[in-house]
Amino acid sequence: MTVRDGRIATVTSPGNAGGTSAADTTTADCDGLIMLPALVDLHTHLREPGDAASETIASGTGAAAHGGYSDVLAMANCVPATDTPERVRHIIERAARTASCRVHPVGAVTSGLAGRSLAPLDAMAAAGALMFSDDGVCVEDPRLLLRALEAARRTGTFVAQHAQCPRLAERGQVNAGAAAHATGLPPWPATAEETIVARDVVIAGATGGRLHICHVSTAGTVEIVRWAKSRGWPVTAEVTPHHLLLTDLLARDGDPLHKVNPPLRTAGDVAALRAALRDGTIDAVATDHAPHTALSKDNHWCEAPFGMLGLETALPVVAKALGDGGEPDWGLLATVMSTRPAGIAGLADVAGRPLRAGEPATFTLVDPEADWRVDRTESVSASDNTPFHGMTFGHRVVATMVEGRVTADIGRRLAFPTADADNPPVSSSTG
Ligand SMILES: [Zn+2]
Repeated sequence: MTVRDGRIATVTSPGNAGGTSAADTTTADCDGLIMLPALVDLHTHLREPGDAASETIASGTGAAAHGGYSDVLAMANCVPATDTPERVRHIIERAARTASCRVHPVGAVTSGLAGRSLAPLDAMAAAGALMFSDDGVCVEDPRLLLRALEAARRTGTFVAQHAQCPRLAERGQVNAGAAAHATGLPPWPATAEETIVARDVVIAGATGGRLHICHVSTAGTVEIVRWAKSRGWPVTAEVTPHHLLLTDLLARDGDPLHKVNPPLRTAGDVAALRAALRDGTIDAVATDHAPHTALSKDNHWCEAPFGMLGLETALPVVAKALGDGGEPDWGLLATVMSTRPAGIAGLADVAGRPLRAGEPATFTLVDPEADWRVDRTESVSASDNTPFHGMTFGHRVVATMVEGRVTADIGRRLAFPTADADNPPVSSSTG
């Protein structure tokens, strides 16, 4: 493949390099590597503004580039929350100066994420918000959700719901059932998620506004999403890498690195989530990358915050979950981690594109022969709260390119020229 002016100029097949290299051409040996369209994350917490100790736009997008991502949607639960057009524009401007991948701000559904009054969704959409979400908390008031979905339909955007009935989740800490019994911690039942999803898909069907279900975690939610789709309602759904690989058995060790919202569920739930991703009931993988400082995570379980890192490990984790010990279906993986999320976010013109001449040179390179032991001390993120520390994976992202610019070249393995004054950071785009 050759790249010119940020686009793919020519594509050659393996063993047929073809042509001659111009003097000003940089070549890299990609033999044995897998090339995928760069990944798109519908669910990233960048923590800027408000919590630079755990993450910034610079550190979080650095982690994204190292994980193979070209685009992330930055959730609204910053301090202050992204709930006005000025704050949407502020994030776009900050990202233009400091980001290593494209950043798309998410607007809050309700002012201050407080669940009481609708934020100015139309104005935020005009300022560049592609999606609306109070993620971290549920939009509990069905009337507010209905009005948000109507605004989404008006503005060509969509609403992502953190589906969790606060009354049913109560002070839940671990999955209800064996994990709660073993630990004595307050149980978090599947019904807390499933009741909200069942309610919300009906509202989406009635309004015609696009509803996206964040981090599906139970087999029951899968059934509800399948039913909603069979009725032709405008519903999409995501699953996190950790819910595809880890189970609630881990919560029994009492290590808050395994504390996440929604909680890790049973092996049966994990099997249902994998099947739903394969059959298209769940549309996309989204990381829910949730950085927290060591100070806050190194705590008793109940005092530690919910959440785990996701961007740097997502692709190897999903490859392992979908590969069942062998090679994953790379076409499926490209669909659920790039093409489909790009389409859901309205980024299909620039992201998740096929790798052929004339298209943007936006791709990631994966080593399928890696033997990568995750070491939390090597995190590019400003935080290191990964639940995958010490685990070994058979695949690893080695480089990422966005519109012809190298945004990650891990270990300088390909010796690509990296970003500098002549090759500036990737600017933000509002699609
Ligand atoms: Zn959430």
